[in-house]
Amino acid sequence: MAADSPLSSQLGPPACERDAKALHFIEETTSHADSVQDRVLTEILTRNSQTEYLRRFKLDGATDRETFKSKLPIITYEDLKPEIHRIANGDRSAILSAHPISEFLTSSGTSAGERKLMPTIKEELDRRRLLYSLLMPVMNLYVPGLERGKGLYFLFVKSETRTPGGLLARPVLTSYYKSDHFKTRPYDPYNVYTSPNEAILCPDSFQSMYAQMLCGLLQRQQVLRVGAVFASGLLRAIRFLQLNWPQLTQDIETGALNPKLTDHSLRECMDKILKPNPELAECVRHECSKDNWEGIIARIWQNTKYLDVIVTGAMAQYIPTLDYYSGGLPLACTMYASSECYFGLNLNPMCKPSQVSYTIMPNMAYFEFLPHEPHSFGFPRDSPPKLVDLVDVEVGKEYELVITTYAGLYRYRVGDILRVTGFHNSAPQFHFVRRKNVLLSIDSDKTDEAELQKAVENASRLLREFNTSVVEYTSYADTRTIPGHYVIYWELLGKDSANSPTDEVLKQCCLAMEESLNSVYRQGRVADNSIGPLEIRVVKNGTFEELMDYAISRGASINQYKVPRCVNFTPIMELLDSRVVSSHFSPASPHWTPERRR
Ligand code: AMP
Repeated sequence: MAADSPLSSQLGPPACERDAKALHFIEETTSHADSVQDRVLTEILTRNSQTEYLRRFKLDGATDRETFKSKLPIITYEDLKPEIHRIANGDRSAILSAHPISEFLTSSGTSAGERKLMPTIKEELDRRRLLYSLLMPVMNLYVPGLERGKGLYFLFVKSETRTPGGLLARPVLTSYYKSDHFKTRPYDPYNVYTSPNEAILCPDSFQSMYAQMLCGLLQRQQVLRVGAVFASGLLRAIRFLQLNWPQLTQDIETGALNPKLTDHSLRECMDKILKPNPELAECVRHECSKDNWEGIIARIWQNTKYLDVIVTGAMAQYIPTLDYYSGGLPLACTMYASSECYFGLNLNPMCKPSQVSYTIMPNMAYFEFLPHEPHSFGFPRDSPPKLVDLVDVEVGKEYELVITTYAGLYRYRVGDILRVTGFHNSAPQFHFVRRKNVLLSIDSDKTDEAELQKAVENASRLLREFNTSVVEYTSYADTRTIPGHYVIYWELLGKDSANSPTDEVLKQCCLAMEESLNSVYRQGRVADNSIGPLEIRVVKNGTFEELMDYAISRGASINQYKVPRCVNFTPIMELLDSRVVSSHFSPASPHWTPERRR
């Protein structure tokens, strides 16, 4: 049924009445982007006018953009730490938001080695749900018939803690999956998952993945799309299948669930779904037992039309591997979001990954854009930069995203660099360029240069008794293995060749580095199994000089040359790898608990 909606014609004919409304909403909101932004800012400033933060900057009830921009500073998380600390410790006064802070969302961005705590309010859940509700209506424009099957999505909850003041602290998706919005969502034929809620909500990551994979296999003919939030998560699921297909197929054959699944509600739910099906077991076994896993997703889930995973930003490194396992199925990147705020969606989700642009939805927050000068370091306090409004950004230019949210972040720098690719009506569309200051990333971990430097320093202390020091180092995110892992190249200088560090010592150096890295990294290593053991590759003396010669031969200036602290250019990798004299892996998991270090 093509519902009649004059405004939705630009996006295409909607698949049903509900889609028509959603597309109409997108058209309306993007057509009046500037007035929607005006309304959003007025609402935020009006309701929060009596908060301590806005009073501090003497806004005096003003809600216009000029006053707001002239009186409020542009801030980062570090500026807000004292307020966050007070809220976490139980201060319930209206510090940032007039609405009570309902919980903290723990970002994958870190501060002092711990996840940043983003305050949120109850009604933000509605805003998130609203953005989610727009995704399928857009997808239905490009892929018809999705209501005739299901989505195999690997979705997980992560551990949560409480702050000293008693507020929950957990990742935004954990908060969403545990909310009634998700748990008691009404039946929607376009959004039926193969995974039951019990599997998604099971806190044990092995049991959760096992049950979700089993459900996906049992319903293989109905699966029309396969996904996870990030590309790394989907590849982890493929790796899980590689390791566990013998047991999974045995369960399918016999109808008896693997005894390793001990979660009571999960077992109860799976018992209703799992029935002996030797034919299906044989079919899955036949595919999985082959040595060649190329195209395995399309072979097992033959009706899959696309993979729904984010492959923009740091996740782009996984595109070739996903193409390999899927046999080249289209990759759909549907949305752009964060713990601070959900930003927008991709209105052309079946485009190539390199062409993905996200349209920021003007109703989600008040957005400003800091022109990004690639080589500048911050900005002087006495000449604050001129921020640009949402509708005023220029195509081709890069900006850093700055947000003002209903939950009480005011002119907050998210740290993402975006490039304008065009407009949908009057709302700009952005290519995600990168997150600032991220050197290494495998999953949701983000390691910056200072963290890597500290890790190298800490680890190299173990070399002192061997009269050995690290003279140069660089790093590489190796995603050829699943899960991927950090590789650190070390050039060592030893003063005592009779007493050089042994393999055991260098392994301990790997572990010492891991212990120094931030908690998101360590959680990935310990709880999520999404990052493999860190590897040190010792290279021959003189290797880094060769690296410099190579850079100079390609035009780098001798005076300005600095050793890159992360590499991914193939000729450089080849040069480094050809000089490796030994390689060492971390022998154990670093320390991690859900509790924050204080
Ligand atoms: P978190 O606060 O842990 O939820 O992480 C949010 C960050 O993940 C964003 O600020 C981006 O840097 C990154 N991110 C989220 N969505 C996308 C996307 N679609 N493409 C690229 N990066 C993304």
